[in-house]
Amino acid sequence: MLTATDLGHLRRAVDLARLALERGDEPFGSVLVGAGGEVLYEDHNHVTAMDETQHPEFAIARWAGANLTREERAAATVYTSGEHCPMCSAAHGWVGLGRIVYAVSSAQLGAWRAAWGLPDGPVRALPIRDVVPGAVVDGPAPELAEEVRALHEAFARRT
Ligand code: ZN
Repeated sequence: MLTATDLGHLRRAVDLARLALERGDEPFGSVLVGAGGEVLYEDHNHVTAMDETQHPEFAIARWAGANLTREERAAATVYTSGEHCPMCSAAHGWVGLGRIVYAVSSAQLGAWRAAWGLPDGPVRALPIRDVVPGAVVDGPAPELAEEVRALHEAFARRT
C-alpha cells in the first residue's frame, strides 16, 4: 500500500529521473529516506557520464553501507522511479536496507522497451524478490506510470 508520503518521495525520484534525462542519461532516479521521514541521500543514473554500473540504487546502497548503522539501514526506505535491476537488488540486500517502493516495475519497462523495438539489455530483469527473497517491496504506482513511460520513450527516441 502506498501512502501520500510514499507518493511524495516517489514524485521526487521521478523528478530526479527527469533530471538524468535532461543531462543525457537514462531516466532513473532514487531517494533514500530514513526512519523519521528525512531524505538521507538521492541520486540519478550516471551511466552515460560514467559507466554502466552507475545506477542510483547502487549508489544508495554504497552510501548507506558507508554512512548508516545496520539498524538505520534496515529502517530506511528506498524510493525509486524504476524497480531495481538484479545488480542493485543484490547491493540492497547485501547492505541490509529496508523497504523498496518503485513507481514502475521492470516488467512494465521491459514491455514498453519491446514495443519501441529496443533490444533486451545484457542483464536479465528479475523481480527484486527473486534476488532478495526477504525484501519488502511496494509498487508500482499507477499515478506515475504515464509520466515515467514518457521519460523512457523520450530517451528511447533519442538513441
Ligand atoms: Zn540497477
